[in-house]
Amino acid sequence: MENRSWPKCLKCGKGDLLPLSDFGSQGAPIQYKAWVCTNPDCRYNIKIRNGEIYLNEPILDGALHTRARREYTP
Ligand SMILES: [Zn+2]
Repeated sequence: MENRSWPKCLKCGKGDLLPLSDFGSQGAPIQYKAWVCTNPDCRYNIKIRNGEIYLNEPILDGALHTRARREYTP
């Protein structure tokens, strides 16, 4: 059991803000690059990119990712 809890989403008050990590262009891990509400009806999100904060960017749905992955498949 993980003994930590995520901060509650202040927008909807139902979901939790979940930290997401990414990998940089050099393959270095970027921890907690973005925080996203777990409530699918809310999708409040905050992320940092190139030192700037982005609030509530639209979340891409799976179709775009699928297409991108197919293009990169050898
Ligand atoms: Zn929320």
